[in-house]
Amino acid sequence: MLEQIKKLSQLLNESYSEKSVVASLGKFFDENFNTAGFNIILKEDYSSEKSVFSLYKHKKIIGYIEFNKTNKSLEDFLDIALPLISLKVQNIVLSEKMQKNIDFQNAMKNIAKIIETQYELNYIIPLLGEMIDKFIQNHLIYIFIKDHGKYKLMWPGACKDIKILDIINAEPRKRVTTDELGVFPLISENKILGYIVTKNLDEKLNLKEIEYLEELTNQSATTINRANVYAEILKHATLDALTGFYNRRQLEERIKQEIASSRRQKTPLCAIMTDIDFFKKVNDTYGHAVGDLVLKTVSKVMRSQLREYDIAGRYGGEEFAILLPFTKIEEAKMVAERLRKAIEAKSIAISKINADAKEKEIHVTISLGVYELAENDKEEDLLKNADKALYKAKETGRNKVVINE
Ligand code: GH3
Ligand code: MG
Ligand code: MG
Repeated sequence: MLEQIKKLSQLLNESYSEKSVVASLGKFFDENFNTAGFNIILKEDYSSEKSVFSLYKHKKIIGYIEFNKTNKSLEDFLDIALPLISLKVQNIVLSEKMQKNIDFQNAMKNIAKIIETQYELNYIIPLLGEMIDKFIQNHLIYIFIKDHGKYKLMWPGACKDIKILDIINAEPRKRVTTDELGVFPLISENKILGYIVTKNLDEKLNLKEIEYLEELTNQSATTINRANVYAEILKHATLDALTGFYNRRQLEERIKQEIASSRRQKTPLCAIMTDIDFFKKVNDTYGHAVGDLVLKTVSKVMRSQLREYDIAGRYGGEEFAILLPFTKIEEAKMVAERLRKAIEAKSIAISKINADAKEKEIHVTISLGVYELAENDKEEDLLKNADKALYKAKETGRNKVVINE
């Protein structure tokens, strides 16, 4: 999936007009998802028999993509890809408008708005480069971003100009202009984040262009800084730090998506709720650090027993929820039984964490409740009904699987 997203981003970056976006996306979707035809429609009032996905910008529909054929992996992919495509479409519409009449200041605002809503540097930077290219005629544009202490060229592909590298590596905090070059530092919160560099092909930068670039670098620096911070936050916000499973909030999102997709495609969907048996005792006997190790180990063993597209979330302290798409109850029961056995068999070495403990390694067990989504269920019923079965498993002896039919 990541590879496909990268490829898509690259395609989008290489396309400069509506026509080329449509052409390259059509080929991409056909090749990767066997969609047998693709179209982008840029209007608001549109209805069709085909599978249609909306392109949004700030909650406003700016167009649609239609496919002759879709499938689950395409839909999953589109969850991530639609915002990228939306942005590109918006950007193209915008830049075609700009060429006609908008002046520097207005264009600036639009650029700021576009890049403000993005947090992927790999996406923001080429966009920025493209925009500057449009305004600064007859200059080559380079954008360097600091990464692990080094300045890396992020736009365009290559720069062999030693003079540029020399200037940048001296880390100037103010603009440097020579007959040939303009070097504009990207500084935010007093840190140098990178440089925008122009190299003229005939004439020097004029005052207006310098003014424009100064303003643009200021704005971009803020955006790049925010992108760095946001990417860091996002990493922590979707996954639970201890187990690497989805956190509760993200799990809830995924439940919504999976239920919708199961209804749309008329495929079965099961949920398993599990809870570690007597976990409190593990904490009390060996300490919380060992408890944490047990949680980590249990989640790792579970993940190893699941298919790639099964969804695992940390529901609460030592309670996990697992969604099994395309799975009927009999099969889900087998998965649950497999999980139970794998945990039971796992030795958890604790001496590194608690050297004083009597045992060098310990075992834990889990109880599991299984439920298959029924036609008239509400969203919350899926886990609720799995939880009822889990409760029964606890009540009737633990270390077992109970099904709620
Ligand atoms: P049961 O078999 O009925 O589930 O017994 P139990 O001991 O597991 O009972 P309960 O669910 O009430 O206990 C859960 C314990 O899990 C209580 C809490 O201290 C512990 N816990 C929750 N989150 C964490 C965590 O992140 N790390 C550690 N070490 N312990 C946690
Ligand atoms: Mg428990
Ligand atoms: Mg519990």
